[in-house]
Amino acid sequence: MRIDLHTHSTVSDGTDDPTELVAVAAAAGLGVVALTDHDTTAGWRPAAEALPPGMRLVPGAELSCVSDDGRGGRVSVHLLAYLFDPDAPAIVAEQRRLREQRRSRLRAIADRMAADGLPVDADEILGSLGPDAPAGRPHLAQALVRAGLCDTVDEAFASYLATGRGYSVPRRDTPVEHAIDMIAEAGGVTVLAHPFAFQRGPTVTAEVVETLARRGLTGVEVDHPNHDARTRDELRALAKDLGLVRTGSSDYHGTNKSIRIGQEVTPPEEFDALVAQATGTDVVVGG
Ligand code: AMP
Ligand code: ZN
Ligand code: FE
Ligand code: FE
Repeated sequence: MRIDLHTHSTVSDGTDDPTELVAVAAAAGLGVVALTDHDTTAGWRPAAEALPPGMRLVPGAELSCVSDDGRGGRVSVHLLAYLFDPDAPAIVAEQRRLREQRRSRLRAIADRMAADGLPVDADEILGSLGPDAPAGRPHLAQALVRAGLCDTVDEAFASYLATGRGYSVPRRDTPVEHAIDMIAEAGGVTVLAHPFAFQRGPTVTAEVVETLARRGLTGVEVDHPNHDARTRDELRALAKDLGLVRTGSSDYHGTNKSIRIGQEVTPPEEFDALVAQATGTDVVVGG
């Protein structure tokens, strides 16, 4: 059974809509796929309705959080949340706040770029996304590609949008401890996404992962395209020490990245351990 627990659809910053995403997952031979759009659960229903017979959908989200980095500073972290009640009032309110903030941040970045003469228009980008969409830097990257300034989204990040490139605007994200509590209270489980993906920017230390494990974190993403072999070994050992579930996932974003769905997978026994700790929403089975 092939299991991919981290994917994005057009509901956030992927390029396959939820129906297409489920079809692509099936075509790639996956038996289980999690939909983890940034700061929204709006894709759960269309994805569930499109499931082919026997395929399982794990409803999830990738939450934008902030954490101590273990060196005296603060750092952005992503928390994958699964199988929680999407109607829990605390979650609904926090996700709405994050989406609003994402839109004002995109506007701030786009305005700065436009002031520097770059061909981006905040109204045009936001207008194409829908009023409640979680806007992100990949949408700005696509605009730069459309304008012919860059050939790919990856190139747009490398030249303009990556942290430290001059166009980063910080967000007021959720303290990761609060996010872990909030999801646990809503019956769900949490997995720290790409914890040591240092090419993306600063990361947390192993000590921080230990603190989060004590707080109730369920797992860590070990096999991720942004982790090299040494990082994976280190994280696997850390997870074992701390009793955390070890997941593997592609972080598929359609054509916004060169990663294929199912490129990284979660061992079935780790998936079972993850689901066993959730008390909320069930895995949805198709057909
Ligand atoms: P945001 O949510 O606006 O902070 O944008 C983060 C998203 O941008 C991530 O989920 C990735 O999909 C993408 N991303 C972040 N860093 C890079 C990078 N260096 N190259 C390509 N895509 C990236
Ligand atoms: Zn993304
Ligand atoms: Fe992420
Ligand atoms: Fe992601």
